[in-house]
Amino acid sequence: MKGRPTARSRRRAGAMHLVHAFASPAVIQAEGALTLVKGKGVYVWDSEGRRYLDGLASLWNVAVGHGRPEIARAIAAQTRQLSFAPTLLGFSSEPAQKLAARIARMAPKGLTRVIFTSGGSEANETVIRLVRLYWRLRGREEKIKFVALDRAYHGSTTGAASLTGLPHFHRYYEPLMPGVVRMMRPYCYRCDLGLRYPQCGVACADELERIVEREGADTIGAFIAEPVQGVGGVVIPPPGYFRRIREICDRHDILMVADEVITGFGRLGTRFGMDRWKVAPDMLVFAKSVTSGYLPLGGVVLRESIYQTLVDAGPDFALHHGFTYAGHPVVCAAALANLDILEREKLIARARKLAPYLARALGSLRRHRIVGEVRSIGLMGAVELVRDRETKEPLAAELKAGARIRNACLERGVIVRASLDTIAVCPPLIVTPKQIDEIVSALDVAIGEVGNELADRDSARVNR
Ligand code: PLP
Repeated sequence: MKGRPTARSRRRAGAMHLVHAFASPAVIQAEGALTLVKGKGVYVWDSEGRRYLDGLASLWNVAVGHGRPEIARAIAAQTRQLSFAPTLLGFSSEPAQKLAARIARMAPKGLTRVIFTSGGSEANETVIRLVRLYWRLRGREEKIKFVALDRAYHGSTTGAASLTGLPHFHRYYEPLMPGVVRMMRPYCYRCDLGLRYPQCGVACADELERIVEREGADTIGAFIAEPVQGVGGVVIPPPGYFRRIREICDRHDILMVADEVITGFGRLGTRFGMDRWKVAPDMLVFAKSVTSGYLPLGGVVLRESIYQTLVDAGPDFALHHGFTYAGHPVVCAAALANLDILEREKLIARARKLAPYLARALGSLRRHRIVGEVRSIGLMGAVELVRDRETKEPLAAELKAGARIRNACLERGVIVRASLDTIAVCPPLIVTPKQIDEIVSALDVAIGEVGNELADRDSARVNR
């Protein structure tokens, strides 16, 4: 069944008593939210039986697709066997131990120890506390600042939101955590330095060197970035960017943290995003695809030397950081079943193989005048809309072009996401070429319609 989602499938939020985050409460109150009732493979269904192709892997996380019986069985079996064990009080469980070992085996070289959380924001809070703890244990009391990129997304708890570089996560919530230094992002389409790759020599990475000079290396604990910015608009750094960042971090004794919440577990066609850039960070943050969203899980993988610093602190030191549900056995069992699927169905290699197909399919959207840039890497892509292709002038914000295209796709049974006027596509890794065509063809019609509407408005304005 296709067509506009109706009022019934958008059950009233007020009646549901449920607050939907990342949305306007006023709009949800007036229009309700689409109620999803079923998922299978790359598809989800609403309460009236309408089917949608999940072109965003729900929230960049449902890597193996919806409704996998293997994961359901693993969850049920572990619940019957042992439903909880408090890793905070020195108890452990087999699923948590097995999962930590498996993630350590998958992680870039040298990253060996895993600390679990219930999601990405908690994992970044963990990073903030561990970076400061690490430097203090090493007698470097002043190394407490973080360098984070413009328009990065690291979560919405107070520390993680302070690392986040999106103004709407700050405006109403100040004061933020002090000690975050903002750095330009590697955004070649709109280079802050007005340069072009490769002649630029990746000068945007050298900005870190200038920040270190200005702030003093003795005050900076860590640099944090996503291997590819997700929420910020699928911004892909140029080759060599992270290698330069790694060199600068090494030169000044600064920890390098990769936030792999979206890019981890295959999204870019490699186990982790940093494998794609051939760089090993000191801490690696994961969440989302580790369970494909079946249950909430996140965590941080630590370099062995960081962990050894905690051990060397001796028996009188205890790690006073952690969460009740860290290493939850049922959640870890779900993650193990999910990683089994990822491995058995060779989904990481599949992402790498299908990447050129997605790139070509999205590339066809360049025929629309309002498409300024199309970019993709692995099975993650974006279409950036502009008013004027030559000057890259953005569309007026009040036109809400991105949101309109997203809604027009939804009416055609395809889910994508709009970050302002950048439309993101990030399907489950099991997606087929035909399903990629389905996503792109919905985008094609939606961009065409909205583009024509905007052109009509423009000419009406000129003729007035
Ligand atoms: N870091 C990145 C890169 C993310 O994309 C997200 C969520 O989208 C987070 C952190 C926050 O994760 P969570 O929503 O699980 O707290």
